[in-house]
Amino acid sequence: MKNRIKLSKIAKALVNDEFVFFYQPIVSLFTGKICGAESLIRWKGPDGSIIPPDVFIPVAEETSFIAEITQQMLPKVVEDLTVLNRIDDSLCVSFNVSAKDFADDEFLDTLFASTSGKLIKRENLCIEITETAFFPSDGSTQQILREIDAQGISIILNDFSAGHTTFSTLTQLPLTAIKVALDVTQRAPLSKMDFRLFRHLVNLAHQLDLDIIAEGVEDEETHSIILATGCTHAQGYYYARPMPLPDFIRLVNKEPAWSEYPFGLEYLAQFDLVDFRRDVIRASLMICAHPEKEIRERILARLPELDSQKCLFGKWLENIRYLNLGDEDYDQLWMEHEEFHNIANSLLNKAWAGESLDEIKNIMVEFSNKSKKMMSLIQDLEIQKLERYFIP
Ligand code: C2E
Repeated sequence: MKNRIKLSKIAKALVNDEFVFFYQPIVSLFTGKICGAESLIRWKGPDGSIIPPDVFIPVAEETSFIAEITQQMLPKVVEDLTVLNRIDDSLCVSFNVSAKDFADDEFLDTLFASTSGKLIKRENLCIEITETAFFPSDGSTQQILREIDAQGISIILNDFSAGHTTFSTLTQLPLTAIKVALDVTQRAPLSKMDFRLFRHLVNLAHQLDLDIIAEGVEDEETHSIILATGCTHAQGYYYARPMPLPDFIRLVNKEPAWSEYPFGLEYLAQFDLVDFRRDVIRASLMICAHPEKEIRERILARLPELDSQKCLFGKWLENIRYLNLGDEDYDQLWMEHEEFHNIANSLLNKAWAGESLDEIKNIMVEFSNKSKKMMSLIQDLEIQKLERYFIP
């Protein structure tokens, strides 16, 4: 405690413009390429020494002084993001905010003033809030997050599962992604239970249609196992440490890739197919059993997306086709998927119209046969990929 930094020194550093950002790459596990970075503040002393944030951010957070740091740093991150987006307009940058920032009346004004008309794509700026510091269930936090979301800015829930995780609020917050706490990622390779917990978090994010970033990936083994779970993004020393903007730009221009086919996402797509089939069959049977309008409407509201391009499986298929792996079988899968949805819609319509149970059963058989065909196609594609990637 005796080495604790004084607030007056931090204030002086702010006046002298001594705070800078380092950028740590975030890798898309879908493409294997850098898709953005987290901005991490550093104190660059006049002698060139670099002081990490845990030395001064907690001190600033004890007072409202953190709000002044945020006010000064936000325009800088927007400027850096603009530079990055001139190189590649899909690159995203995340910016950490403290719980105290949300109590600052000027925070939203600063955020909107520094972004308005300056960013090529507003969604490329992500605000990172830390789960342990915020009370996501608090009404005013939710209101601020909704205002940020309404402006098109993305929101990431940081340190997920490090504190008292409030699962139920996940559906109430306008989140783009959750970031798994560093120690949860690092424990994943160490035991069966830790691995299952990690996989469960990936499934949870997937069900809620959120991206999930694994923080703290330090080695190839962790990279491989999180890739196999269907985790969408990763960050950690295995890919790169935080670095000054010019170094980050150089790295982006080199286009490094940690490529491997995203098998994990393909496994999740298989589960999506199983879930979709089960949900549609259960819903049709429940509709047959319940003529009450109110109950039927609730049944429909719980259904997955019936539009073939918006359902989870359809989104995966669209992305895989976009990767353009040259496999014609994906086009066949695409057509089968369209038909799968047509049959699902017909099944639900007939149930709603009160068709005979025999007729409903016939369509269910047709629906199941289509699902079997699709599953077999995906698994054939998987074997082709395994041969390509693992068997010389
Ligand atoms: P965070 O947002 O959870 O940032 C991740 C921290 O983990 C960073 O430490 C990063 O360097 C470190 N890290 C990344 N990959 C690995 C890895 O593979 N292994 C290990 N051992 N560590 C890894 P850093 O830069 O010291 O930042 C610490 C915390 O300071 C951040 O945690 C964030 O809460 C806070 N912070 C950083 N920049 C800002 C800022 O601009 N504003 C505010 N309010 N807080 C900030």
